[in-house]
Amino acid sequence: MSTLFIKMRWSLTIGRLAGIPIKVHVTLFVMIGLVGLFYGRNSDPVTTLLVTLLVAALVFGSVLLHELGHALVARRFKIGTREIVLLPIGGAALIEDADTTPRQDLLIAFAGPAVSLMLAAAAWALSAVSSGNTLVRFAQLNLILGLGNLIPAFPLDGGRILRAALTGWMGRVRATTMAAKLGRFIAVGLVVTAFWEGDLWLGIIGAFIYVAATSEERTVIIRNIIGERLVKDVMMPVRRIFGLTDDLHTVADALRQDSGARAVPVTFGERILGVLYREPVLAALELGDRPIQLRDLLDRNVAVAVADSPLTELLTIMGRTRARAAIVYPGAPDDADDGTRVPKGVVLIDNVIEEIQRGKHAEF
Ligand SMILES: [Zn+2]
Repeated sequence: MSTLFIKMRWSLTIGRLAGIPIKVHVTLFVMIGLVGLFYGRNSDPVTTLLVTLLVAALVFGSVLLHELGHALVARRFKIGTREIVLLPIGGAALIEDADTTPRQDLLIAFAGPAVSLMLAAAAWALSAVSSGNTLVRFAQLNLILGLGNLIPAFPLDGGRILRAALTGWMGRVRATTMAAKLGRFIAVGLVVTAFWEGDLWLGIIGAFIYVAATSEERTVIIRNIIGERLVKDVMMPVRRIFGLTDDLHTVADALRQDSGARAVPVTFGERILGVLYREPVLAALELGDRPIQLRDLLDRNVAVAVADSPLTELLTIMGRTRARAAIVYPGAPDDADDGTRVPKGVVLIDNVIEEIQRGKHAEF
């Protein structure tokens, strides 16, 4: 797999290869541990440990080489890989978002299965000349990794290859939608089969494909709609900046005068402290009897953006930090020029959503 969509929490960095951080999801350690426990029932501790380590090395190695295949071909096209995460259901190379051609997409997607199939063939050939059960197992594992990922269930590699092939004549968005539909169809098939066969693992993979297909499809649609927009296109201009010592009434008066302002920034010198939203400020004054401090209503989790930067970039940052608001500066943060450090506007996630909805009406 080579996917962008998974939130990679609960993973430990085990090192770097070709400059790419390699992480292992804790569930993979748990799975290896279970293999050890299972094997350990009929074996002495030393053999169990050795077998478990061998299984871990074979699984980690196979998945890692598959993902490196994706990452290194992407690098040939000057596209970076943020990290590689090894999961029990395979791996994921988090390849950076870039404007790739269908041919590049196809080659990046095919690189992983190609590595797995070559490893399978090599291990198979070696197992013919040297008697080794391990080599046969290694060949089988890589054959499954190679062929399994070629199933055209987007966002598995096979689905990406299909999308690349469709992109040429229906465009990236429609190709993604088609590939995602087929991906979800196959995913439902896998889940049904899993119930029938009582195969929990297959069920997990099916559910994963279903969710991932939908999530990637949405990302492509959103990118298409807001792809060309800049932060300043959706920004609400800031007419006034407040400090922590300001009275809530002052803020409320300013908000009443400026009906377009849904949030205002609060700073301390050049430091951003957060934003205040319109509704809580006005509601707090209605309460009246208990004095509410400005700091009690402050949302401190805000992103920072430059007015001329792409909106998709800001959306990625806000998604990652779960920020609802972003403060916009006219220039880059390291600009020493005074005046550039005065916030120019605020972007709320609601502004972006409205922009996407407007785009949708225009498009369909
Ligand atoms: Zn892959």
